[in-house]
Amino acid sequence: MLNNRKFYINGEWVEPSTKNDFDVINPSDETVCAVISLGSQADTDAAVAAARAALPSWSTSTKADRIALLERLYDIYERRMDDMAEVISMEMGAPIDFSKSSQATAGTFAIEDFLIQLRKFEFEEKLDDSDNQLFYEPKGVCALITPWNWPISQVALKVIPALAAGCTMILKPSELAPLDSIIFAEMLEEAGCPAGVFNLVNGDGAGVGSQLTSHPDIDMVSFTGSTRAGALISHNAADDFKRVGLELGGKGANIIFADADEKAVKRGVRHCFNNTGQSCNAPTRMLVERSIYDQAVEIAKETANSTNVDIASKQGRHMGPVISKLQFDKIQTLIQAGIDENATLVTGGTGKPEGLETGYFVKPTIFADVNNQMTIARTEIFGPVLSIIPFDTEEEAIEIANDTPYGLSNYVQTQDPERARRVSKKLLSGTVEVNGNGAAMGAPFGGYKHSGIGREGGSLGLNEFIEVKVVTGWS
Ligand code: NAD
Repeated sequence: MLNNRKFYINGEWVEPSTKNDFDVINPSDETVCAVISLGSQADTDAAVAAARAALPSWSTSTKADRIALLERLYDIYERRMDDMAEVISMEMGAPIDFSKSSQATAGTFAIEDFLIQLRKFEFEEKLDDSDNQLFYEPKGVCALITPWNWPISQVALKVIPALAAGCTMILKPSELAPLDSIIFAEMLEEAGCPAGVFNLVNGDGAGVGSQLTSHPDIDMVSFTGSTRAGALISHNAADDFKRVGLELGGKGANIIFADADEKAVKRGVRHCFNNTGQSCNAPTRMLVERSIYDQAVEIAKETANSTNVDIASKQGRHMGPVISKLQFDKIQTLIQAGIDENATLVTGGTGKPEGLETGYFVKPTIFADVNNQMTIARTEIFGPVLSIIPFDTEEEAIEIANDTPYGLSNYVQTQDPERARRVSKKLLSGTVEVNGNGAAMGAPFGGYKHSGIGREGGSLGLNEFIEVKVVTGWS
C-alpha cells in the first residue's frame, strides 16, 4: 500500500521525520507482509500540534456536520469492507471468513451505534427548575492507543465517539497490526474529515505511545491493551491530570450449572477459542457443577479435537495462528505451567499442530481439574487454552468467579431464570452474558477492578469524550 510508511498528519500523508522501519509479520507464514515507520518525538509533536490547531473549529462544528461526516464514512467503509477484512486477516491472522463476518464489520457496527447516540445527544440542556444551563463540550485533544487483537473494532470504538463529541485526536494503533488503521485513515480522508481533526502516527509503546501519554498538550488518553501498559499509562498521565479511559485484560468465568442447556459446554469452548483465544472477554475459566463435570470435560475434549487450525487466508471456519512469536512463546510457557502444576491436560498441549510448523499456531488446549490458584487460572493467557474448574454450590461458583484481579466479562448458563438473575447480580464484571445471549448495540463495554476504567460503546462511550459545564443565571 502506498501510505504504509507514512503518517497522516494535518490532512496529509507525510514521511516520518526520521527513518525507522518496522516489519509487519504475517503470523500465518512468518513472512514480512508490510513495512511501516515507527514515529519519533518530532512526529508525535507535529500530530499533537495539528490536533490542537484543529480543535477550535471542530469543537464548535454542528451536530449535523458531524453526523454527515460519519454517514459519509459509513458508506466508504462499506465499499472498502473487503480491503479491511483482507488486511486484518493478513496482519493478525484472523481467518478470512471470520475477518469478513466479525473483525471488519466491527467498524461499521461502531459507526452505526454512535450515529444513533449522536442523533439523540443534546449538547445543551436546562437543569430542572433552575436558571442553570448545562453544556456538554468536547474533552479536547485525545490520544487513542489500541491493541492488535480486534484492531479496527478498538480503533472505531475510540475514533468515532471522539469525532462525534467534537474532539480532535491522534491515533496510535498497535505496531503489530497497523495496516487496518492506515486504510481507516484513508477512509476518513476520503470522507472529508477536516485537516488536523484525525491524525495517525504509527509507533511502539516505548516511543510514540509514551510520548503521547506524557505530552502536555493532550487532554485525554483512551487506551485499550494490557493491564501492565494501562498502569504505566495512568502514571504517565497523572502529572498533568489527563483524563484516562482504560480497557484492559480479563479472565472471564463461564459458570455452567447442571441444568444448563445441552449446548452450553460446546458454546463455551468455541467462545474461548474464538479469535484464537485472543479476546479480552474470552470465557477462559469454565466452572462446571460437579454432577455434570465428567460429561462436560468429555464434550470440551471433543469440541477442541474437532477445531481445525489453519492459515488465515483459507476460507471456512477454523482457528488461525496467534499474533506473534512472543505471544506464541508466552502461551507455550503457560501451557507448561499448567502441566507442571498438575492440572489434567485433556487435549492439546505444547508444540504446534501437525503440519503447521511454520506460523504461530497453537494446539486447541483443554485443562481439567484446575484449581483457581493455579497460574493458568490466574493469568490472562490470550491463546486457545481453556481451564475447567469443578464446583459444588452456587456460592462457591460465585466466589471462584470473583476471585481474580480482573472483572471484564462473566457468563452464566442455567435454565432457572431466578438463579441466572441472582448469580449475575453478584458477579463483579462489566458484562454478564446469560445463556449465550450477546450484548446488544448500544450496550456499554468495560471492566471492574484491573480490567479498566470507563466504558466504550453506546451513550456511555460517547460521554467518555465529553466535558461538562454548568452556567448559572442563564435564563
Ligand atoms: P499492549 O498493552 O502490549 O499494547 C496495546 C497498545 O499499547 C499498543 O498500541 C502498544 O504499542 C501500546 N503500548 C504498549 N506499552 C505502552 C506504554 N508504556 N505507553 C503507551 N502505549 C503503550 O497490549 P496488546 O498485547 O497489544 O493487546 C492485548 C491486550 O489488550 C490484552 O491484555 C487484552 O485483554 C487487552 N484488550 C482489552 C480489551 C478491552 O476492551 N478491555 C480489548 C482488546 C484487548
